[in-house]
Amino acid sequence: MNHSFDVLVVGGGVMGCSIAYHMARKGAKVMVVERRSIGGHAASLTAGILAAQVDSDMPNGLFDLCLASRSLFPGLVDEINLASGTDPELELGGVWFAAETEEDKKFLLEKKSWQQERALPVEWQEPDRLKEIHPGLGECLGALWCPADGQIDSGQWVFALAEASRRKGVRFLDQVSPMDFVRDRRRVAGVRTKDEVFLCDKMVLAAGVWTSFLLESLRISLPLEPVKGQLMVLAGIPRAFRGPVYASSGYLVPRSDGRLVIGTTEERVGFDVQPTLEAQRSLADWAARWSPGLNALPVVEFQAGLRPGSVDGGPVMGRLWDYDNLFVATGHYKKGILMSPFTGQFMADGILDERWHPLGVPFSPDRFRPKAGAPK
Ligand SMILES: Cc1cc2nc3c(=O)[nH]c(=O)nc-3n(C[C@H](O)[C@H](O)[C@H](O)COP(=O)(O)OP(=O)(O)OC[C@H]3O[C@@H](n4cnc5c(N)ncnc54)[C@H](O)[C@@H]3O)c2cc1C
Repeated sequence: MNHSFDVLVVGGGVMGCSIAYHMARKGAKVMVVERRSIGGHAASLTAGILAAQVDSDMPNGLFDLCLASRSLFPGLVDEINLASGTDPELELGGVWFAAETEEDKKFLLEKKSWQQERALPVEWQEPDRLKEIHPGLGECLGALWCPADGQIDSGQWVFALAEASRRKGVRFLDQVSPMDFVRDRRRVAGVRTKDEVFLCDKMVLAAGVWTSFLLESLRISLPLEPVKGQLMVLAGIPRAFRGPVYASSGYLVPRSDGRLVIGTTEERVGFDVQPTLEAQRSLADWAARWSPGLNALPVVEFQAGLRPGSVDGGPVMGRLWDYDNLFVATGHYKKGILMSPFTGQFMADGILDERWHPLGVPFSPDRFRPKAGAPK
């Protein structure tokens, strides 16, 4: 049996769900096809830090996009909470970046000054003040505080986006594997699963790091790269930390249920998602050095996931060359949760209304388009 949709989104991670929601809000008939479970990969195992300011190293287009996306969270979370009945626990109460060395301190003070020049809220806090705020923190030389950054429960966020989309009529199909594209010259007309064919006017590929394989089968190549990250979750000490705290080689994030997330590694090891003892050891050493009190806490989880990276560090969002109706949204690397509100809106406005927000345009896949005459 054939089914027909305005837009078919391939990939049910945070990007696929945000894009589907923003399209359904505009009245489009949308379907999301997911190979495994909705929101089951990167989004469910992130630290959920919304680090638009604290984890940006220079003012550039990506920084502006992150700020824009952060500003969309409060309104969108209220809307999604109401539409889904799920509270993703957004907290925009600030994120800290602590200095371990004089070099860290210099770098962080420079960050403070270029952000202040842009009239952004940012402060330097001395060690005594930090001790009052985060009694669990060990010795450091002070910290940068970005009060407008924050955190969200990323697993609940994707769940809520998917549920709100469902209630707006989006159809979700999970555990879909294998799947082929239905091609029609310069169009991708739909997908064919084992039992059914789903046709569409337009298609968005939002399959995280696995988007490369989908593109390969459509004879398009984008310089994407998986970057493995591992996280450890501890039982936690209530009120030891008031919010997420970064340092140059890790971060810790207190959860509302008392648990503490310790992260993270950045490993370029292909598509391997197995947690390793080496990473567990290095995260444990780092955490114990930063906060000796953590040493005795039980480890309740240890997980690994893949971040969708791109060669220039920016997301890849927009129409794909060689096709009239094919779009991509991936490459959000370590800030996909943060960038999910902007990406959903950007893709929905662009695909359905041909209105591409100027902040997203520099991240079009066209920047990787082979020059005429060059081998593909
Ligand atoms: C350890 C770690 C910590 C992180 N911490 C943060 C953080 O604190 N803040 C932040 O903003 N970001 C964070 N991130 C990054 C964030 O998780 C990602 O950028 C984001 O999840 C990417 O979303 P996505 O939808 O593009 O990809 P994914 O979440 O990977 O989703 C892609 C989906 O596509 C599906 N899929 C794959 N192939 C197919 C196919 N052929 N057909 C159908 N479906 C398919 C997959 O099963 C998956 O469900 C972290 C990531 C990791 C790994």
